[in-house]
This record gives sequence, C-alpha cells and structure tokens, in this order.
Amino acid sequence: MSRSAVRVRSRAFLFAMIKSLYIHIPFCKKRCFYCDFYSQTKLNLKKDYLEKLRVEAAAEKEIPHKLKSIYIGGGTPSLLTVSEIDFLFANVIGVFRRGKKCEITSEVNPESACDKKLLSLEKHGVNRLSIGFQFLDDSLLKKAGRLHTEKQAVKTFLLARETGFKNINIDIIYGFPGQSLKSFTETLDKIISLKPEHISAYLYSPPERKSPLRGKVPDENLSFKMYRHLCEKLKKNDFIHYEISNFARKNFYSEHNLNYWKGNDYIGLGAGAVSTVGNIRIKNPEIEKYLKNPAGKKIEILSAERKVFEKFFLNMRTKKGVSYRKKYEKFIKSGFLKRRGSKVFFSENGWFVSNSVIAEF
Ligand code: SF4
Repeated sequence: MSRSAVRVRSRAFLFAMIKSLYIHIPFCKKRCFYCDFYSQTKLNLKKDYLEKLRVEAAAEKEIPHKLKSIYIGGGTPSLLTVSEIDFLFANVIGVFRRGKKCEITSEVNPESACDKKLLSLEKHGVNRLSIGFQFLDDSLLKKAGRLHTEKQAVKTFLLARETGFKNINIDIIYGFPGQSLKSFTETLDKIISLKPEHISAYLYSPPERKSPLRGKVPDENLSFKMYRHLCEKLKKNDFIHYEISNFARKNFYSEHNLNYWKGNDYIGLGAGAVSTVGNIRIKNPEIEKYLKNPAGKKIEILSAERKVFEKFFLNMRTKKGVSYRKKYEKFIKSGFLKRRGSKVFFSENGWFVSNSVIAEF
C-alpha cells in the first residue's frame, strides 16, 4: 500500500465502528461447474494461509470494532481440520472484540463436514451453520460438479442438529440447466421436512469462467415458475421472504447479511476478501500474492454518488426498501414495486426482475 493510501485509510478508520467480520477460506477440493466465487484447489497451502490470516488479523484488529456478526465463508471452510479450526479461533477470530450476542456463522459442505469438525465449531461458539445442499437430486449434483450426494447432505443436516446447532441455513439453486419443476419441488419438500430456520435460494446464473456450464442460460419461464412455487410454499410453511434470495423463520434473519444489505461497514480477511469502511473499499489480493504479503491490499475511494447508488441497490434487496420518489410510480402501477407510507419496496414478482427494474432507475 502506498503512503497516501495508508493516510486515506487511517482517516476513514477514525470514524469507523465495525460490526461485521468476514473471513474467506479460499479452498475447495474441486471447483463446482457453476461457481464464480474466488477459491482454488491447492489444499497444501492451508497451513501457510492460516498463518497469514493471523498476521492480517493482528493488523486489522486496530480498526475500531465491536462485532455483532462473524461469517466464515469460502471456498469450503469445512475443509479445515479440527486443529486448523482451533488455530483460526485462537489466532484470528479470537483477537477481535465481540458483543454478547454475536452471530457466528460457518459455511460447511456435506462431503467435508464430519462430526468432529461440527463439534469443534460448536465448541468455539459458532451458533449458525450454512450448509450447501444446492439440490437433493443426485443427477443434478453430479451435473453441477458437486462432490456429495443427496444422502450425505441430509446426514450432515441431522448431524448438525445432533451436535446442537439451533440455527441452520440451507443453500439451494433453482433454474439450473436440466432441473425440472418436479425435481425442484421434491428438493424443496424434502428440505422443508428437515425444518431448517433459514433457506437461501439462488437463481442459477451461468459461470463467467471456463466450465462445462459456461453459456448455459436458465429457462426464464421455468425459473419463474420455480420462484413462484418457492415463495408460495415457503410462505405456507411460516418462512418470511425478507431478501431477494433469503427466507427465514421469525427471529432467524441473518444478522451478518442484514448488516451488509443495510450498506454498513465490514472488514473482510483473507485472499480475495473485500472490506468497506466509510468511503474506502479495500480489496485483498488472490492467494499467491496474499501469501507473500497479506498487507498488499488495493484501496479504492468510493465517490458520494457511488455510495448512494450502492446503498440504494442493497436496500432494494430487502423488504425494507427505500424512500418513495415520484419516478417509481410507473413500476408501482405495473406491480413490480409496492408503496407503504413513505417507503417503496419490490413486490415478490418485482424481485425476480429487480436487476432490469433497477437498471431503468
Ligand atoms: S460452490 Fe462452494 S464448494 Fe463449489 S466451487 Fe464454489 S465455493 Fe467451492
């Protein structure tokens, strides 16, 4: 980082009070064909990586903070061994100050989350798990390049419950190439019968990187049918649709994601992670550079217009919406937006086409 960048960063940190911390674990046994998240498959780098995370955490803990949420994401955090999880909590997460009711989430994948790892996460205070199911259909799991089976996914969920996790999210995908409405309905029914507290349902989008799925776009009509079925079925089962892709039972909204969607500041640690503090966006390098120098970050100064737009965009993802303006009338009339008092927010059908509606704004 240049000297002037360090000065800009220090000024922004003077006024900060960070509530959310994200830690990226950029390791996967194999890349799923649809995925564009930053991760790589050199698992032999884990030890060195954790050491660099320790160095980065020791520096970043100087930013004023009191955490309400910590999110361990990836990649695949459940590829860490029990002793690596111990290291992460003692030397990285443990150096940050947290509030009493801090939500601590870890993502886990069915093929790598065994009873010992789940127990270790629970012992360290993880109180929310996010399990990547994607589909409960072995042929689709194979087509997506996932390493687990339907049976393993259900087993992981039951094991997590047995371990004591009372707040579990399940990730699913709809609109995937070759996925029928019947297969999606069956996946959803099986998931509802497990009674998770939270479901994140993502509309498939083709990967940008080279992959067998590149260029395979979702069938829009079929995806919309799946989306409608998802909304109706989850509503009947007492889930609240509180964000475009997220459904939760009462009192189980994701604190971490809400903080992000409100446009609040957050710190991101690890290769490829991003932090936003005031009008400063800090981007960490990918793993090769990160291992050489975890402080080698890129700083971007966000203009006032960009901040306003990002906040607007993020707020529109949630049920809370944004303040009413006359220019929204056209979309209120067409049913994509709804108005309640001084607030405007997307209808459920509006959320499905939210990108094109926002582009018109
Ligand atoms: S979906 Fe998850 S497990 Fe699959 S490649 Fe992406 S980060 Fe890795």
